[in-house]
Amino acid sequence: MEILAEIPFVLDPLALMKPLRIEPGSGDESDLLALIDVARQVGKPKAVYTESFVEGRDGDTVDIGGITFTSRTLNRNLATAERVFPMIATCGVEMDAAFPACGDMVQEFWWDLIKTHLLGAAHKYLDEALHRKFRLGKTATMRPGSGDASIWPIDQQRGLFALLGGVEAAIGVRLTDSFLMVPNKTTSGILFPTEVDFRSCEVCHRETCPSRHAPFNKELWDAMQHD
Ligand code: SF4
Repeated sequence: MEILAEIPFVLDPLALMKPLRIEPGSGDESDLLALIDVARQVGKPKAVYTESFVEGRDGDTVDIGGITFTSRTLNRNLATAERVFPMIATCGVEMDAAFPACGDMVQEFWWDLIKTHLLGAAHKYLDEALHRKFRLGKTATMRPGSGDASIWPIDQQRGLFALLGGVEAAIGVRLTDSFLMVPNKTTSGILFPTEVDFRSCEVCHRETCPSRHAPFNKELWDAMQHD
């Protein structure tokens, strides 16, 4: 497993104030700036990845690095892939320990947004590192628990963590009994080379998700059910 622990990030106060509708010169602005200062001091976004190989496919399962994953969609997406990259990116455990305004729900919300920016920096750094090192072309990513529950059940986080090995010791990210990751602003998944676009939102029925970045694709959904 490779560890990326020195990930740079930029926190632009104006870019954060805009979605929060915070007015320049207001008391809220100074509270937010104080949070940004803390985040700049303690924030340590991180990522881990490994290089793994598809060893077998059988109906709804895919064997990767000695671990069997059960997901028809994963099987379908990895139909032509041989080498894949299990990975985790996080805003960093330091952020949870450093939140300076416990009990203030508004500032907790702002802090979560700052954490999201750190996670975004970790994603970008990891993606660029993988593409540069392995000379990857077009890729897509699947994440356990992302989209409809049946697409890739969240309990297979356990297999993904096992594939990486020693994640908590490396970057502090741990899995809860319900397979959620701590810190909350952490993502996991498998990145794979592909010539075909795939985004989990295309096979997710959730109608009111604010993070949706692709419309539901009924044709693709039907194909996933019947292949
Ligand atoms: S629509 Fe929302 S919940 Fe569904 S996969 Fe996309 S981001 Fe996730």
